[in-house]
Amino acid sequence: MAATYDAIVVGGGHNGLVAAAYLARAGARTIVLESRHKTGGAATTESPWPDAPEFKVTRLSYVMSLMPPTIINDLKLVSHGYKVHPMGPYYQAFPEGGSIKVYADDAKRNYDSVVKWSKKDAEAMALWDSWLAGLADVLGPMLLTVPPNLGSRKPRDLIGTLRLAWRNRGINVRTVADATRLMTMSIADLLDDWFESSQVKGALAVNGVIGTWAGPYEPGTAYVMAHHSIGDVGDGHLGNWGFPEGGMGAVADAIAAAARSFGAEIRLNSPVSKVLTSDGRAVGVALANGDEIRAGTIVSTLHPRTAFLEQVGEDNLPADFARDIKNWKTRSGVVKINLALAELPNFTADPGTDLAEHHTGSVEMAPSMDFIERAFQDARDGKPAVRPFSDGVIPTSFDKTLCPEGTHIMSLFTQWVPSDWNLEPHTAELEAFADRMIELYDEVAPNFKASILHRDIVGPHQLEHEYGLVGGNIFHGELSLEQLFHMRPAPGYADYRTPISGLYYGSSATHAGGGVCGIPGWQAARAAMADRKLARSGRRRALFARSAG
Ligand SMILES: Cc1cc2nc3c(=O)[nH]c(=O)nc-3n(C[C@H](O)[C@H](O)[C@H](O)COP(=O)(O)OP(=O)(O)OC[C@H]3O[C@@H](n4cnc5c(N)ncnc54)[C@H](O)[C@@H]3O)c2cc1C
Repeated sequence: MAATYDAIVVGGGHNGLVAAAYLARAGARTIVLESRHKTGGAATTESPWPDAPEFKVTRLSYVMSLMPPTIINDLKLVSHGYKVHPMGPYYQAFPEGGSIKVYADDAKRNYDSVVKWSKKDAEAMALWDSWLAGLADVLGPMLLTVPPNLGSRKPRDLIGTLRLAWRNRGINVRTVADATRLMTMSIADLLDDWFESSQVKGALAVNGVIGTWAGPYEPGTAYVMAHHSIGDVGDGHLGNWGFPEGGMGAVADAIAAAARSFGAEIRLNSPVSKVLTSDGRAVGVALANGDEIRAGTIVSTLHPRTAFLEQVGEDNLPADFARDIKNWKTRSGVVKINLALAELPNFTADPGTDLAEHHTGSVEMAPSMDFIERAFQDARDGKPAVRPFSDGVIPTSFDKTLCPEGTHIMSLFTQWVPSDWNLEPHTAELEAFADRMIELYDEVAPNFKASILHRDIVGPHQLEHEYGLVGGNIFHGELSLEQLFHMRPAPGYADYRTPISGLYYGSSATHAGGGVCGIPGWQAARAAMADRKLARSGRRRALFARSAG
């Protein structure tokens, strides 16, 4: 006999855990099925060096900003150990000398930092921050909105579209223009409109290309910057990010604890191989070991190609939906490099190995827009970047739980390698790529190379095969314009429902994903709970009609 639950969540990444917590909180008997030996998915803290288990790295994702207070409060995450240290400024030391710090939404400090490079840019910083704040006022609430099914004439969809229009009735011509610019411009063109110095533009361009298969001159990258700039970590500075204590795995652990506290069961080492359907309805799942588990509600949080093409099967899906998922763009060319350091980087521009402010934020290797673009062009030409760019962080500047006293962990989020490196491990080439990356930091902080105790390199093949991130894309799919909002993951299915009744979809490939924000999992659970409520009241009505008759 197959085990039976009210709800099955496929995938124990942070979105699956959020979905399970909400479903269990609503009273559904819920089970999470996770293929790996641990939960968290791309939000994971691991010890990659068997000989040095005392070093823990936040292996893939590394900073928090996008999780809304609703989820943090509903799930009481703080009481389950969720704690975020707001991080310091963007810091770039230049090979030709000097350095720059850029603070999130802090006019006074930005002026003082930027004025040495350009008075015009120093004056523009405050205006830029308030321009972003205006856009965040519009885009922030949109992240929590269920995208309307544009083009549909069904009454429910038309009401959804009208509701969205009504909610945004206060938007004026200028805001629409700004949002249009954001959606259509490259980050390079946008920054050219605001700033003149290559130093400021390089620092601000990084957020436009994080996780993106596009250089800073590609249209649409301005939006990627906004996606990464409209969160906060509760410190009152828009766009700021933070280090969760215990690494990103601790965030997933807090959500898992919340889910368990509401009664959800979490089963590890349990890969799902099929979503079972009957007459167009989801009825359960089959595990890779052949076991079956039944439930009337299933929430999948896997990559869309896996969730739909592999697990539901093309034959069970409408042809246009299956085509949209096949055409889903899921490249990125990201390589994550995790390092254990014997001491902090000693920058020529800001000497010293004692902890200083410039160690506490993003320790970038993105000295100019052209530097970033060159790295992308190399990868587009089919070779790994000769001079890769990096969004580096040293979480242990605040978090003392990850390594022994006196040592540090540094996390380098680097780009790009060719988009097809998910197909082969490319081990030796990744080692050489990491050497070049480290060499670039060594040019500006000459103790860097010698300070490295251990290194861990995770490329696109490992991202796909160990973590299920198809194509190596960090968000389960690119944040390109044709894959946003009502198009994410496919037109007609952006409301966290799917063509299969009873099957909901809440991975980062839905609206508000990617990132460790939990919104897709929350929305998928809400859609499932709303439908369960509707079905229950329908059943009650039918029962009442039968007994009255
Ligand atoms: C290198 C890297 C850096 C990033 N940096 C950041 C960052 O700093 N900040 C940020 O906010 N976001 C970051 N992201 C993005 C963010 O981590 C992801 O968008 C998010 O974690 C995805 O969450 P998810 O729950 O939707 O999916 P996942 O985390 O991918 O979870 C899916 C889960 O399903 C499991 N699974 C797969 N196949 C099966 C199966 N057949 N059966 C059962 N279970 C299965 C997987 O093991 C996984 O646990 C980064 C991502 C990467 C890869």
